[in-house]
Amino acid sequence: MLLREVEYARPASVDEAVALLGAHDGARALAGGQTLLNVMKARAASPDVLVDLNRLDELRAIAVRGDTLVLGAMATYTQVMQASEVEVARPILAEVVAQIADVQVRNRGTVGGNVCSSDPTNHLPPLLCALGASFTIRGAEGERTVPAEEFFLGVYMTAVGEGELLTSVSVPAAGHAADGFAAVTLGADGTCIANAAVSLQDAEPRVALGCVDAVPVLLRPAGSDDESVRAAVEAAGLQPPGDVHASAEYRRHLAGVCAVRAARQARERGGT
Ligand SMILES: Cc1cc2nc3c(=O)[nH]c(=O)nc-3n(C[C@H](O)[C@H](O)[C@H](O)COP(=O)(O)OP(=O)(O)OC[C@H]3O[C@@H](n4cnc5c(N)ncnc54)[C@H](O)[C@@H]3O)c2cc1C
Repeated sequence: MLLREVEYARPASVDEAVALLGAHDGARALAGGQTLLNVMKARAASPDVLVDLNRLDELRAIAVRGDTLVLGAMATYTQVMQASEVEVARPILAEVVAQIADVQVRNRGTVGGNVCSSDPTNHLPPLLCALGASFTIRGAEGERTVPAEEFFLGVYMTAVGEGELLTSVSVPAAGHAADGFAAVTLGADGTCIANAAVSLQDAEPRVALGCVDAVPVLLRPAGSDDESVRAAVEAAGLQPPGDVHASAEYRRHLAGVCAVRAARQARERGGT
């Protein structure tokens, strides 16, 4: 299906992008376009103005500042896979984005687009919750930072409001933490049916489950051993959706399986 007619703007600075988003009620940021153009073609979204972020190199930077890894919202998955800063500071990020779809999607898809689309089957929302990431959002009033637990508000809904732009995602450098990720996907490169990310640090595991609710479910089990993780998933009383790919019951079962696998991976990497 052809796109509905839409105006197009290509700002030269973040300030200009924010001004454009604030000036038009029906304006949407365009990042990699891997989700947005598909939903526009399906007429599930019909923005009046597309504000293309692709010229904003300042949003593509990946840097380590002190003990924090800062990913520009426009950093692509391929950039994250190749960045030495990621390899040193939080290598799980490169490992997980390497599992997203195919090379074309990884070359275009961005960190910001992944989290702003807040698709419950995406890889990054649970991972960034487990890692304790925070999100920097810029609007006409200035800049604010939101923790992962408050960023994802529902399917396709986040803390980024009308007229605002996500500019970066900050992730604590691993330090003594060890991380793991596990997913069950539709085929080798396909969408997740269930996924889980685990970060272990100072005997305080953070387990985040994807695909089982509108937003990632963050759990704090008493320990990282299989029994503790499984018990925490069971106690969460998950009510996942059922669809042609997995019934609710099967998806609930997979959530426990993925969480235990991700925790084992983190333990094998030295986490407790
Ligand atoms: C065939 C295929 C398979 C895929 N499989 C997977 C998968 O297995 N796992 C996975 O995680 N993802 C998957 N995806 C989704 C892919 O990762 C997308 O790239 C991602 O969800 C959206 O990123 P994008 O940069 O393309 O954003 P866009 O499509 O350009 O934008 C998505 C949404 O985010 C908003 N947005 C983007 N950037 C910002 C910003 N900086 N500030 C405010 N709002 C912003 C846009 O306005 C839009 O509403 C798949 C996509 C395709 C096409």
